Amino acid sequence: MTKTVRCCRECGKALPEGRKATIKFCLAVEGSNRNTSSKCKTDWNNRQKTRGDMIYPLVMAMRYDRQNFAAQGVWKKMCRLMAGWHDEDVAAGRVSYEPLSTVLPRLYDRGDLQRGEIVMRNQRWSRSGLVR
Ligand SMILES: [Zn+2]
Repeated sequence: MTKTVRCCRECGKALPEGRKATIKFCLAVEGSNRNTSSKCKTDWNNRQKTRGDMIYPLVMAMRYDRQNFAAQGVWKKMCRLMAGWHDEDVAAGRVSYEPLSTVLPRLYDRGDLQRGEIVMRNQRWSRSGLVR
């Protein structure tokens, strides 16, 4: 039987056994049961924020400024940017991304994404609702 060892997302160090599954980083104080911010967690979150600041305006432009997004080849630029981040993560020995099987349930559970399909073809919405 294979034994699963959970590791810190940032530094890859094995987490102590018996920890809650929600703990994903080294603890600030070894031996503590509290998941207070450790350097690993802070570093991870700061990098996510920095990368998010770069990619968010591009993703919004992808949705709402489609013509310019396509004309300027932004998708390729985004892919190049993400490939650089991935290479950087691999070189540092840390997790680069989470599989969708992990990400989607978390976003559904937090209410950030709606479950199911949203059908809006040939319909327009305003602040007051569906425009007929
Ligand atoms: Zn760590």
